[in-house]
Amino acid sequence: MRKEHYVFPLEDFASRDDFNRIKKFSRDKETPFLTVDLKKIEQSYDDLVEHMPFAKIHYAVKANPMDEVVLALKNKGSNFDVATVYELDQLLRLGVEPERISYGNTIKKEKDIEYAYEKGVRLYVTDSDSDLKKLARKAPGSRVFFRILTESDGADWPLSKKFGSHPDLIYKLILKAEKLGLEPYGLSFHVGSQQRDIGQWDNAISKCKYLFEAVAEKGIQLKMINLGGGFPAKYQAQAHELETYAGEIRRFLHEDFGEELPEIIIEPGRSLVANAGIIVSEVVMISKKARFNQYKWVYLDIGKFGGLIETLDECIKYPIFCDKKGCAEEVILAGPTCDSMDILYEHHKYSFPHTMREGNRVYIFTTGAYTQSYSSVCFNGFPPLKAYLL
Ligand SMILES: *Cc1c(COP(=O)(O)O)cnc(C)c1O
Repeated sequence: MRKEHYVFPLEDFASRDDFNRIKKFSRDKETPFLTVDLKKIEQSYDDLVEHMPFAKIHYAVKANPMDEVVLALKNKGSNFDVATVYELDQLLRLGVEPERISYGNTIKKEKDIEYAYEKGVRLYVTDSDSDLKKLARKAPGSRVFFRILTESDGADWPLSKKFGSHPDLIYKLILKAEKLGLEPYGLSFHVGSQQRDIGQWDNAISKCKYLFEAVAEKGIQLKMINLGGGFPAKYQAQAHELETYAGEIRRFLHEDFGEELPEIIIEPGRSLVANAGIIVSEVVMISKKARFNQYKWVYLDIGKFGGLIETLDECIKYPIFCDKKGCAEEVILAGPTCDSMDILYEHHKYSFPHTMREGNRVYIFTTGAYTQSYSSVCFNGFPPLKAYLL
């Protein structure tokens, strides 16, 4: 039986020159590790500004919290969204002014709100009565935006259910915020990360419009909408270009709000940093479970605990390249740890050249977001994922 040649669309993810540069750079380094190209992050930032000039960018630090990444974006003029006082401390240490920081986690300890307020943060999200009261006590007079619940349909990495509340509850919270001495400033949502259905923004923006009008009847003028993250990076599954997202979102906004838009904030994480990262990994072992099993197992030296947790349920399908020639062979791909959930892709079959051998390297593209910071401290003794700037 003739088999097809192994073909990987390398040029979709890196030019040959860029790839050769990374190959050379990595030659004498122990795998696994992440390489990050700051220039690509700066380029993504510029693209975002170009396509969404009406939006203020608050980078979601959790996507890639490396100091160098934060500094590059700081120098570009970005604002930042933090989830914890630890991220806040990091930003302050790097010289980011508190006016450029929003506290975007709906789940906060009262003492952490007190700390952030002390440090000068005056923009907070909330979605519950309990959190609102904590804000009133510890961050008096601050601007508060209210997160509405959205379904994450269409997102590869959903963020549904846990965050946001139903518009009816949000309505009550907005009125209460004013009574408690806070400034009800705007609304936010997150349609789910790597959201490939642009229509989800339309649904969420309509809910915002409804709430803007409902509270206006009570004399409260909201001023801001935070469109969250969810903008795409380049994985195996196709997503529209950023330009298409921007155009559609702008249209949804104008349909609901007319000519004069409220202040618009976006909180991109993945779309700013993912494409700038490539993980270099090595094939540890290739084996078969039985003589006539159809599929070989390929074990890499990185897995779910080494930084690829977004392969959970095979949600995020990273493009993975082995630089060998041969016939395409479908395999099951797994990580190196002693936990049986450390399988990367079993249902979705990845193809590699049949000439791939133990000790060969593979290049995992689009890994600049949600990898290094997710890697475990020392599970099985494996050290956390190293990262190098290119
Ligand atoms: C994680 C997160 C983001 C970033 O989302 P991406 O899909 O990575 O762009 C933005 N806002 C909030 C509140 C988040 O929790």
